[in-house]
Amino acid sequence: MIRAGGAAGECSVRINRLYTAIHLEPGAEVVLEGPAAHYLGRVLRVAPGQSVVLFNGDGQDYAADVLRPGKGSVVLEVRSRLPAVREPDFKITVAQAISRGERMDQTLQKCTELGASAFRPLFSERVEVRLTGGKLERRMAHWQGVVVAACEQSGRAVVPQVLPALDLDDWLAGDRAGQRIVMHPGADAPLARLEPGQRVELAVGPEGGFSDVEYERILAGGVRGVQLGRRILRTETAAPAAVAILQALYGDLGA
Ligand code: SAH
Repeated sequence: MIRAGGAAGECSVRINRLYTAIHLEPGAEVVLEGPAAHYLGRVLRVAPGQSVVLFNGDGQDYAADVLRPGKGSVVLEVRSRLPAVREPDFKITVAQAISRGERMDQTLQKCTELGASAFRPLFSERVEVRLTGGKLERRMAHWQGVVVAACEQSGRAVVPQVLPALDLDDWLAGDRAGQRIVMHPGADAPLARLEPGQRVELAVGPEGGFSDVEYERILAGGVRGVQLGRRILRTETAAPAAVAILQALYGDLGA
């Protein structure tokens, strides 16, 4: 028997598809504890024999039957593998300068729904949130929970990773996950004219944008500046809009 605490927090819609970090295979008996157990037992009030769908990020969905619902834990038996939603071949990493509270959550949630593959929180000059040590760790775990909840809701069976937060300069100096672009209202090139290959890393500024000096440094770092029209978008609008456009042009939202 395998024990683990799942992470089913952040749910605002009633779903019976749940993430758990544990290994899943047909025939296995699993014990969900923590928020996942609370959600199944207290919110959905599952009964013995009831079916739910579990996933652990391995790209598969699993049908599972409730054996013993309990207060602190729920025991289930995994029955079979189910066909899961296919992941887009086009990989987008969203490098988002950390925005305040809800906004960062919205960016992570919407971009997960739209098929982003990974997230990189960035610290830049105008980031207004002070996060260090334990506080940063807790926020990173919260962000990963937001992404997990968006996967539960949207049917994704692979969970985009929230990569360790980096200062802008460390990000510029670091390894690239694809062609890099920076979203900037004043850039010359429209996003829709970009030909990014199969992987792209998309940097988005915080509420106050990137400073001129930062923007110059980003460009000098070999990152392409692109704009999404002349209207200024809020930071939490920019990344989801860009992900939707890129998925329509090169990913799985196209014809
Ligand atoms: N006054 C700021 C606005 C910041 S908006 C400025 O002029 O930079 C927050 C972030 O959203 C920006 O840093 C940028 O990454 C993105 N963004 C907003 N509107 C955009 C647009 N029209 N085109 C491209 N990126 C945009």
